[in-house]
Amino acid sequence: MRILAVGGGAREHAIVAALVRSGAEVYACLKNRNPGIARSAKEFLLVDENDVDKVVAFARSKNIELAIVGPEAPLEAGLVDALQAAQVPTASPARSAAMIETSKSFMRRVLSEHRVSGAVRHKVVDTVRDLELAIDDLGLEVVVKPVGLTGGKGVKVFGEHMMNRQDIMDYGREVLSKKIGGSAKLVVEEKLVGEELTIQAFCDGKNLVPMPAVQDHKRAYEGDKGPNTGGMGSYSMSDGLLSFLGRKEYDSAVKIMKETVAALRKEGAEYRGTLYGQFMITKDGPKVIEFNARFGDPEAMNVLSLLKSDFVEICNRMAHGGLRAKHAVFDKKASVCKYVVPEGYGTKSLTDAEIVVDEEEISKEGALLYYASVNERDGRIFTTTSRSIGVVGISESIEDAERVVEKGISHISGRIHVRHDIAKREMLEAKVRRMENIRKGVR
Ligand code: AMP
Repeated sequence: MRILAVGGGAREHAIVAALVRSGAEVYACLKNRNPGIARSAKEFLLVDENDVDKVVAFARSKNIELAIVGPEAPLEAGLVDALQAAQVPTASPARSAAMIETSKSFMRRVLSEHRVSGAVRHKVVDTVRDLELAIDDLGLEVVVKPVGLTGGKGVKVFGEHMMNRQDIMDYGREVLSKKIGGSAKLVVEEKLVGEELTIQAFCDGKNLVPMPAVQDHKRAYEGDKGPNTGGMGSYSMSDGLLSFLGRKEYDSAVKIMKETVAALRKEGAEYRGTLYGQFMITKDGPKVIEFNARFGDPEAMNVLSLLKSDFVEICNRMAHGGLRAKHAVFDKKASVCKYVVPEGYGTKSLTDAEIVVDEEEISKEGALLYYASVNERDGRIFTTTSRSIGVVGISESIEDAERVVEKGISHISGRIHVRHDIAKREMLEAKVRRMENIRKGVR
């Protein structure tokens, strides 16, 4: 089957690898020359992924039978709608359904109006006066979010980035006056306290099939310190749950995702594609932090590396319907992913620095390698401003999976940074202790 894959990061390398494993002939559209995708794809076009006309023309010229879009920006640019208009079925959502990610006010409204469980108290605000009223109503323990896409960098949390009412007002004014996220509108919502996790699910518009839970680590430095990033690494466990997450909580979170898809249908927006739910497990159960209309990055590398079923069939069923749990079976193993990033990533990345990657030795260690935002020139790999390489280990136990990743990373050198603490025993135990306290109401 001839499949178009859009995007050039490690998430898309994992998507392309899973498609190729399932026998697809992959045609890729990406803006940087990702060496992993360039090698696996039958053909690729270096192009602005948001240039809808060019991507659709490429799909037409290659007689593409199915398309999957990795990043969120082309979804917002209407790429899926244009592909569908050109008779190309897609395993990604149309713009109206992708609004569950691209508009935080739409997401909060849909959840509240359709009484989806796990909704949070919030106000959508477009004037300074309304911001004052929102704080009066919700209190100071709030989070301020621009309504539109900000690459995960526009959210400010009371107690972390804002310490008093003045700080909240200052940031709110800045969002409104500078139109951060694309419009003079923001969401103020109650601050949730707990542990965060991700559940991704395949969806065909009606049926939703969840994947193993994953925990990502957004902060740049060890001990969850430093600036927020796109994600430094992630892990999942052999039973599909996490050390601090029970079956009941997982099931409640999946129920929230099912209710959300049903709510979108009622709104006239069929959700076809991978749905990403980010939840906070609070003492009152899971609450929605956000939805993404695509795989997570790094979380895609965890789940796609564990997928035993035919990914092409799953994508076909997401596009055409008839998706059931039996179509998406995962290896009952733990997975750990750690990102190799350029020195300074999170503040000021060291760009165009060479990274030496010994692929053969990494493979001998049993680790998987997914290239992200690097450039390949004359067979040599160079950093960009973004993350460079995802290394994944899969094993029966999380300890072993973590060891495999570290051994893999030891064969990558250059001016790079890695969060070695991710998925180490001390960190997992600390999360369990923290969650126990939160359940007891102790902070
Ligand atoms: P988002 O872009 O919505 O994923 O937000 C980025 C980060 O801000 C999340 O990963 C959370 O750590 C934090 N965050 C977002 N919303 C909330 C909330 N309501 N309560 C506490 N933290 C939040």
